[in-house]
Amino acid sequence: MPAPMMDTYAPPNLVFDRGEGVRLYTEDGDKYLDFISGIAVNCLGHAHPKAVAALTEQAGKLWHLSNMFKVPKGIELANKLTEASFADRVFFTNSGAEAIECALKTARRYHYVNGNPQRYRIITFTGAFHGRTYGAINAGGNPKYLEGFGPAMEGFDQVEFGDHDALKAAINEETAAILVEPVQGEGGVRALPDACLRGLRELCDEHGLLLMYDEVQCGAGRTGKLFAYQWVDGAEPDIMATAKGIGGGFPMGACLATEKAAAGMVVGTHGSTYGGGPLAMAVGNVVFDELTADGFMDHVVDVSNFLRQQLHGLADRHADKVVEVRGKGLLIGIKLKDGFDPKKLAGLCRERHLLVGAAGDNVSRMAPPLIITRDDASEAVKVLDEALGLLEAAG
Ligand SMILES: *Cc1c(COP(=O)(O)O)cnc(C)c1O
Repeated sequence: MPAPMMDTYAPPNLVFDRGEGVRLYTEDGDKYLDFISGIAVNCLGHAHPKAVAALTEQAGKLWHLSNMFKVPKGIELANKLTEASFADRVFFTNSGAEAIECALKTARRYHYVNGNPQRYRIITFTGAFHGRTYGAINAGGNPKYLEGFGPAMEGFDQVEFGDHDALKAAINEETAAILVEPVQGEGGVRALPDACLRGLRELCDEHGLLLMYDEVQCGAGRTGKLFAYQWVDGAEPDIMATAKGIGGGFPMGACLATEKAAAGMVVGTHGSTYGGGPLAMAVGNVVFDELTADGFMDHVVDVSNFLRQQLHGLADRHADKVVEVRGKGLLIGIKLKDGFDPKKLAGLCRERHLLVGAAGDNVSRMAPPLIITRDDASEAVKVLDEALGLLEAAG
């Protein structure tokens, strides 16, 4: 019998049955420490009691309405998000790619309603990842993800990550916006320096461009602030896409914008059948309240500093295999030397019941639940230490 699923993924032969906090369990009761959390999604860990309670309560009342009708919990969450960020307006989606699509459309519509329909081009950066829809793969510009899907879409200009001069040169009278991840996830867990984010803001102001952040992976408390841009003064965006962590494991995303940037998004311009539905909004409010609870972000900062310190020690001990430790907060990359494969490292860790991921640029990626303790961090570092010791160069 042929396998029923498309071959778009290659999962290991390991099946999880349930999760609790930072642990995952197989049916046989084997226990794993989850340091990837569905790729930066399960920020409150698995089966968080308050999220489970909110979801099950809502599930017994009302699942779906469509946006033909108001969803009070959605309005409540939009109010919380706008109060806690640069934004005035919110559009809820089911995923990160959809939040990016909304951001791209919002930027183009802004120039359109301001009498500049010729300004539609979006500047993006090498190593970017914005999702897998047509708009998002073209924005991301990764040749691997574009291959075989027809002609590249018009309207995207890609410049080298961190090259301010190339960026300036790419701006012309057709440019609408700049789209960037404050911390690149997929591209290799690379944080954009604070001065670069400020530079982007200045450049956008100078040329009348909209600044768009993709905080699908680095948002929702991942870096120790609700949103990663909030570490930097004077670098607020006009539009921002977020997803992954803000649903804590329930599919949801959001596109946030200022009043001014959202000017073109009027009745009939955009929509989603499921986006902002009662189930997602019930969970989304719980996740937001937990992330913004007293002391939560202090914990993320504390435990991420502790973990990073340990990882720097690890990098020193394995200097023959490790180039550096990167990222921000609990979005962490360990860049390996050429010839050492992060997927192999993930396999060695998995055999030792620690789950980590991989990213581009030969980087081993970790994005644990934000609720990990120092003991969890030490346990992960111990396994990584052993796995790095056993890791052999390919060839
Ligand atoms: C995961 C991701 C996306 C896409 O999100 P989906 O929910 O998979 O559509 C977009 N941008 C970034 C930075 C991401 O990490």
